[in-house]
Amino acid sequence: MLSQWGSAGCSGRTGEGTRIQGIEGAMNRTKVKEAKTADRGTEDLNPFHIAQRQFDNAARYIPELKAGLVEWLKRPNRMITVEFPIETAEGEVKNFVGYRCVHNVARGPGKGGIRYHPDVTADEVRALASWMTWKCAVLDVPFGGAKGGIICNPKKRTKDDLRKITRRFIAELGDAIGPHSDIPAPDVNTNAETMAWIYDTYDMMHKGRNNLGVVTGKPVNMGGSLGRNEATSRGCLYCTQQALARGLVDGLSSVMGATVVVQGYGNAGAIAAQLYAEQGAKIIAVSDSRGGIHNPDGLDPRAVLQHKKQTGSVVGYPGTKEVSNEELLTIPCDILVPAALENVIRGDNAAAVQAKVIAEAANGPTTPTADEILFERGIPVLPDILANAGGVTVSYFEWVQNNENEQWEEDEVNAKMKAKMVKATNAVIDKQKEINESLADLDGRRKERGLNGDPLKKVDLRTAAYVLAISRVAEVTLERGIWP
Ligand code: NAD
Repeated sequence: MLSQWGSAGCSGRTGEGTRIQGIEGAMNRTKVKEAKTADRGTEDLNPFHIAQRQFDNAARYIPELKAGLVEWLKRPNRMITVEFPIETAEGEVKNFVGYRCVHNVARGPGKGGIRYHPDVTADEVRALASWMTWKCAVLDVPFGGAKGGIICNPKKRTKDDLRKITRRFIAELGDAIGPHSDIPAPDVNTNAETMAWIYDTYDMMHKGRNNLGVVTGKPVNMGGSLGRNEATSRGCLYCTQQALARGLVDGLSSVMGATVVVQGYGNAGAIAAQLYAEQGAKIIAVSDSRGGIHNPDGLDPRAVLQHKKQTGSVVGYPGTKEVSNEELLTIPCDILVPAALENVIRGDNAAAVQAKVIAEAANGPTTPTADEILFERGIPVLPDILANAGGVTVSYFEWVQNNENEQWEEDEVNAKMKAKMVKATNAVIDKQKEINESLADLDGRRKERGLNGDPLKKVDLRTAAYVLAISRVAEVTLERGIWP
């Protein structure tokens, strides 16, 4: 079953799954929808509302944009919902709901990962798709933004079930994805093997042409790019190094000797821990969904990963004190790397964060209220749409290699990605400076230009990155001309 609609008027479908008996995850919805903050009221934690709030805040600094264009850029271009069954090894029929959202394709085909998680919602997928649009624009990668998700609990599914779920989802999407229209990639609980299944399914349905570019993050022996697996974390490291070299944090000019805390120990988090450690940082605490571990004298990230592979969790690694994920975020450190899910740094805990800088390897880990608190406290946040963009950048390189039937050396991939990360980091820091300096001349007009009477005030790096991205997407949209 396939239905399509834009964002407007469909938010009632975010309780997806409740209409069909036996939809996996439907009775399992644990995601927190709002949080009480100490002195700022209740915080709405719907990820798409957060993405729109971030957008609105940034759009105030681009007054030349026409209101209709602002509204269009803010909302997804297309949202597809599919509902489908699979037959499990035990002979049961299980039903699943999957989403694929394309937010914007002004600058190129839609690009974004596919997530498997019991708490996936339509609005989460919309938010993640919009963040992809802005991320690709910040990095100046010629893609638009897209994202997908299936409500399922991979921990309860066999590999065979996951293969069937993947194949059926891709078959249901049909021509909605394609090497020049919408290109998936890995995200939470999906990996190179999942991407191989996606490629194979699409290729079976479109025989006789080079379909490698339909998905990125593939195994290296079937068109994947060297360096893609590490790219999100490596890009996060490059971004942090460049920001520190630019003097973002007083007294911390490099990751060498810095203490680092990482939340989430999957693709983004575990590899980030290793790469930061290789550059001389001391990893003092890490966590996964089951909890965290802390050792102020430092952890060996590779040995921790081995322990996780053997036992299923980082918890219990010898010589460490067990901490909760909440406690982990408040451990004093130089660099905090959230690398798990959304909304972990919120209005109710941002005041307790004791890091000098936050590098967002995850998408959406910091809420707008937390952003305000951290900005007031002078803790810079390297925002997701910049800091974790190494992944999509190397996905773009993979796509180029696929289209040209080439394979680049890993050093070449890393060097090209570094150049893009450094350029984007500089551009965001420069944009923040430019906006904040320009505010000095605006005193008399501030109230007029503010949204809902809010005066314009100094912006953080997230808002600066959004201003850069929205301006780039708007410019291309107007250059192309609004069709017809
Ligand atoms: P993954 O599935 O490989 O790893 C996720 C990790 O987070 C796991 O270790 C899991 O145990 C942990 N986790 C889950 N819930 C948690 C919780 N409540 N508290 C602490 N840890 C928890 O996923 P990934 O690909 O590493 O993605 C992580 C984040 O990075 C996501 O926000 C994703 O969108 C973002 N990201 C990933 C990529 C990529 O290329 N994989 C690219 C850009 C951004």
